[in-house]
Amino acid sequence: MRFQCHPGCIRCCEQKGFVYVTREDIARIAAYLCISRAEFRRQYLCGSPPSLRFRKQRHKQCPFLLADGCSVHTVKPLQCSSFPFWPEILATADERRKTAAYCPGINRGPLVNLTLARQVSGEVQQAFGNLYAPEP
Ligand code: SF4
Ligand code: SF4
Repeated sequence: MRFQCHPGCIRCCEQKGFVYVTREDIARIAAYLCISRAEFRRQYLCGSPPSLRFRKQRHKQCPFLLADGCSVHTVKPLQCSSFPFWPEILATADERRKTAAYCPGINRGPLVNLTLARQVSGEVQQAFGNLYAPEP
């Protein structure tokens, strides 16, 4: 698989879905915004652990998405920084095709180091084990 993220692109941020966050994400982004973790949780999160996620706004999928990109880019959540190396995307060619339909970075640029991609995917799986757990 080839991949190179396009500067200025926000298409993955506009996809319908939730941005789940880890404890580390919360601490990092709250520190970046100079607010406490409790305040960050009050302002931006909904759900309950281990499925805390960004609260959506009526007109956009993510509260940090601006017209010119991510306002917390340097400290963005693991879910965002690991895209498109999510377990479900790496798992099948069909998922990669579907993802490539909206992500112009897929199939462009240099070949991705598979070991590295699997490592990232493993981190996601570990962080969000509850979301990837098989249905009972
Ligand atoms: S946090 Fe940033 S990268 Fe993640 S969905 Fe929101 S705008 Fe996009
Ligand atoms: S859709 Fe793909 S190319 Fe665009 S910002 Fe997301 S990862 Fe990068």
